[in-house]
Amino acid sequence: MKGLIFSVKRYSIHDGPGIRVTFFMKGCPLSCLWCHNPEGISPLQETVNQTNKVGEKEFVSKEEVGIFYTVENIMEILDKEKVFMNQSKGGVTFSGGEPLLQFDFLLEALKACKANGYNTAVDTSGYSLTENYKSIIPYTDLFLFDIKHLDDDKHLEFTGVSNKMIQENFRLLLECSKEIMVRIPVIPGFNDDEVQIEKLKQLLLTAKTKSLKKINLLPYHKIGTSKYKKFNITNRMENVKPPSKERMLQLKEIFCEVGVKVKIGG
Ligand code: SF4
Repeated sequence: MKGLIFSVKRYSIHDGPGIRVTFFMKGCPLSCLWCHNPEGISPLQETVNQTNKVGEKEFVSKEEVGIFYTVENIMEILDKEKVFMNQSKGGVTFSGGEPLLQFDFLLEALKACKANGYNTAVDTSGYSLTENYKSIIPYTDLFLFDIKHLDDDKHLEFTGVSNKMIQENFRLLLECSKEIMVRIPVIPGFNDDEVQIEKLKQLLLTAKTKSLKKINLLPYHKIGTSKYKKFNITNRMENVKPPSKERMLQLKEIFCEVGVKVKIGG
């Protein structure tokens, strides 16, 4: 069995505790307007044009996005980074795209990681069958779980999918005694108004269990948008400005009322 992965990040410090190796798996059922990993959306291997400039001259070369890995390949990569991961109490994170879109491979990879003593994290949009989450729970130490918007219409409009299954899976994970870090992307004009912020805070206050360890507020940024052209995706948020530092600090204060650690950024 093989999994399609578009990036492997070593020495990652934003995808869970300690120093981690993060595998970015290809394919996502969502199409968030602000996505900064557009290369992760298609579940297929893609060939795109890469333009490089040397002086005044431009050179166009072909770039393959997505490489197939076996579980053994994953273990070989982790083996090389074992010392750093152990010393820092880190581990391995499966991100994307949406890692559960390649459920069979993810399950096998998680089982192998646990069998080799690695701490495991899954960074998920929450949009996969509840049965799939139930299957990976025994092999996952930490879930990084995105909550984007609580109104279904708005969620559908900005991400392309309903939030009903996501909310169901969130409740399941809060009850499963594994650690959860909630990630809220703060997107101006989408979920940063007072009403929505209050709703998100209330959800976390009322649904909170011992599993909820941290809230990450991820400010909208434009870093990934330079890739949109390469992947033939229209940037529909071109005119949206990132939230100010002051606004992010205000939001941090609001979410601190939930009673868990709140961090701006990953
Ligand atoms: S869930 Fe994440 S990877 Fe998928 S489209 Fe949204 S931002 Fe991009």
